[in-house]
Amino acid sequence: MMKSESSLETKNFFEDMKEKSAIITGSTKGIGLEIAKIMLSSGANVLVNSRNQKDVETTIKKLQSDPQAKGSVKGLDCDVGLFENCQKLAEFAVESFGKIDVLVNNAGTSMISDSLELKKDDWERTIRTNLSGPFFLSQACGKIMAKNHGGSIVNISSMFGSGGVPKRLAYCSSKFGLNGLTKTLAAEWAHYNIRVNAVSPGYIETPMDQGDQTSGGYTVEDIKRRAPMGRYGTSREVAQVVLFLASDLSSYITGTNILVDGGWISYIGWEKLLNEIR
Ligand code: NAP
Repeated sequence: MMKSESSLETKNFFEDMKEKSAIITGSTKGIGLEIAKIMLSSGANVLVNSRNQKDVETTIKKLQSDPQAKGSVKGLDCDVGLFENCQKLAEFAVESFGKIDVLVNNAGTSMISDSLELKKDDWERTIRTNLSGPFFLSQACGKIMAKNHGGSIVNISSMFGSGGVPKRLAYCSSKFGLNGLTKTLAAEWAHYNIRVNAVSPGYIETPMDQGDQTSGGYTVEDIKRRAPMGRYGTSREVAQVVLFLASDLSSYITGTNILVDGGWISYIGWEKLLNEIR
């Protein structure tokens, strides 16, 4: 419950996180791993996940031995694109921590293909992972949060959910869908005190981006030239915003989509112009 009076106390901004338990999907690498780290350092208990059992076990060990970690860590390997797995993940979080306060739907897959050639299986896998999974898990966790006086759901979308990009049909469509899911659930579940928000990263250095550079035919230099801030973002810069949305600091924010893109979407000029003014 929020305090109605303001106080001069600003030291422990994320104090409320100490009481909280969070599921972070796709958290053995990249952005998800950084979200798990920042949540743990804020004092929250964290459930990590990916499809790879060995990676989950290694991640648990690594996080548990991190001197910054204050909360405890559990893990479950499963594909979050499947309904039954999402039920299991939510049940396991309750078994482990007694409740779920925060869900971060971070697991995602990239898909680069000429739309005329895009395979049915690739379309379905992308939509299942990036959109159906977040719905299944939001529903499973939402039921628990509704009984437990609320919670915060953060969907990791993409700036590719705000505009079209050639050869990214399935990916862009999934992220546009995720933004719609975010707004609809925010409106529907606000009366349960469940807040639902999205974070839309721009180009972030992760294993996914490294793979995309090869299959998508772009380089680090291409991105730096086009990004108004002249650089990639870091997973930490995304995780900081997720922590804000997970915590009571954002208690009156729901249904929003925060871009963490170094100004990419705001800029509609051409590359050369940016480089002329630098
Ligand atoms: P990443 O480096 O590829 O890491 C993805 C994580 O998700 C891994 O732990 C992966 O492990 C797991 N994962 C993938 N599919 C899964 C599934 N079906 N079930 C469970 N776990 C799964 O990706 P990232 O770059 O950190 O991206 C994280 C999120 O940010 C994604 O939603 C992505 O769309 C979004 N995003 C990234 C960027 C960027 O530039 N990197 C930009 C905008 C948005 P396994 O493969 O072992 O399961």
